[in-house]
Amino acid sequence: MKFIKCDHLKQKPDFSDLPFGKYMTDYMLEMDWTRENGWGEITIKPYENFSLSPAAMILHYGQGIFEGAKAFKNDKGEISMFRIESNLDRMNKSAWRMGMPTFDLNAVKEGIAKLVAIEKDWIPVGDGKALYLRPTMIATEPKIGVTSCGSFKFYVVCCPVSSYFKAGAGLVKIMIEDTFVRACAGGTGEAKCVGNYGASFLAMEIAKKKGYNQVLWLDVNHQYVEEVGTMNVMFVIDGEVVTPALSGSILRGITRDSSIMLLRELGYKVREEKIDIHELMKKVAEGRVTEMFGVGTAAIVSPVGTLGYEGKDYIIGENKPGPVGQALYHAMMDIQQGRTPDKFGWVTHVKQD
Ligand SMILES: *Cc1c(COP(=O)(O)O)cnc(C)c1O
Repeated sequence: MKFIKCDHLKQKPDFSDLPFGKYMTDYMLEMDWTRENGWGEITIKPYENFSLSPAAMILHYGQGIFEGAKAFKNDKGEISMFRIESNLDRMNKSAWRMGMPTFDLNAVKEGIAKLVAIEKDWIPVGDGKALYLRPTMIATEPKIGVTSCGSFKFYVVCCPVSSYFKAGAGLVKIMIEDTFVRACAGGTGEAKCVGNYGASFLAMEIAKKKGYNQVLWLDVNHQYVEEVGTMNVMFVIDGEVVTPALSGSILRGITRDSSIMLLRELGYKVREEKIDIHELMKKVAEGRVTEMFGVGTAAIVSPVGTLGYEGKDYIIGENKPGPVGQALYHAMMDIQQGRTPDKFGWVTHVKQD
């Protein structure tokens, strides 16, 4: 591992008011791959622009993937990362799906731990606060021909964050998207690839103009609930937690997986099944859906207060955070902040010099 020191450190922003993903830290991690030599050395270096040919394949064909993970500093000053192996394992699966090279998970994990240790003063302390880690991989070879790419760059940038949806801004309002689709079976919905996001902005812009924060995607036939696109979704129906079963076009959220385990641990019944949108909305109208929340690394657990469908708004759980979502949020925080034992083996402690 190579380390290039910054001559000058940035002024840190106000950690009590952090817009999501705006302030990058002083350092980044980089590692380059070529067809001839495979992966090169991991380098931690000053955060800076890199130069890329206008013909680089990522810019034309979207061969790019990313991850979102978090590092925490608790009130004793201990630093940890949450489920980082799961993120890196999923990134290797995304790489496979996108025809990109996979990497040595342990070496990269060690590199990221080093980066987090170097950036320890950038980690905000407190529930909901974290250093967000963004591992990314892009196709860099300058070539307009549509043939396999001969060079890739893997890199990690970090930014201090608080929760994704601003506290005090009210509950999340979601519009059920019945025109566009995010993903289909056999496509790239299960990969965390850049194109999935590129294709989602139009629907999001339309929903924003109508006063919603996000859209809820349905499957290709507009029949079954899939996910929100930055988070997976869970409903409390007749007292039981229900979440869409993985379908091949839903992203395998790590927070979704952690949430299922934690909710069961808390004594809730959790079912993974196909959720028909018409049946769901009927239950919403009957008052049987008492909670809906999104779960994701950035969103943590975000209660949804309004669901818009076919031009009409439906209020969920009196537009207030419900007991199940809150219990889940606290259970998650307790593990991430090191207040309860890590019985699932999710936490990686980061050594500080
Ligand atoms: C990243 C992501 C999620 C959330 O996954 P986590 O692993 O929980 O952060 C959900 N849906 C999509 C499409 C995503 O890209």
